[in-house]
Amino acid sequence: MHEFAIARSILKIAENHLSKQRFNKIKKISVKIGCFSCIESSSLVFNFDVIKKGTAACDAVLAIEKESGKGRCEGCGSEFKVENLPVVRCPFCNGAGIELFGGDDVTVVSMEGV
Ligand SMILES: [Zn+2]
Repeated sequence: MHEFAIARSILKIAENHLSKQRFNKIKKISVKIGCFSCIESSSLVFNFDVIKKGTAACDAVLAIEKESGKGRCEGCGSEFKVENLPVVRCPFCNGAGIELFGGDDVTVVSMEGV
């Protein structure tokens, strides 16, 4: 039920934002999901659609964008984008010691309201 908790926090952020922006209703919420976060987009949308009923975000669309993570090679120090796990080798020196960072959060990027 990871996605359910995330959907709830997205809705909370949206509702907080709503009062600040003086929107009456939320139309669209854009979120970025890190590709290491293990969150299933379709499941997140499903959960969001369930909990948005009866709230100011009841007509809101959840626009999901995937964000890639990054890897840093311990051998040569290069940084590169990592889209899929597991990362096998550094693309520059073929080293196997890769430190991963980023790509594991969910961020609300923007919101549209009326
Ligand atoms: Zn390297």
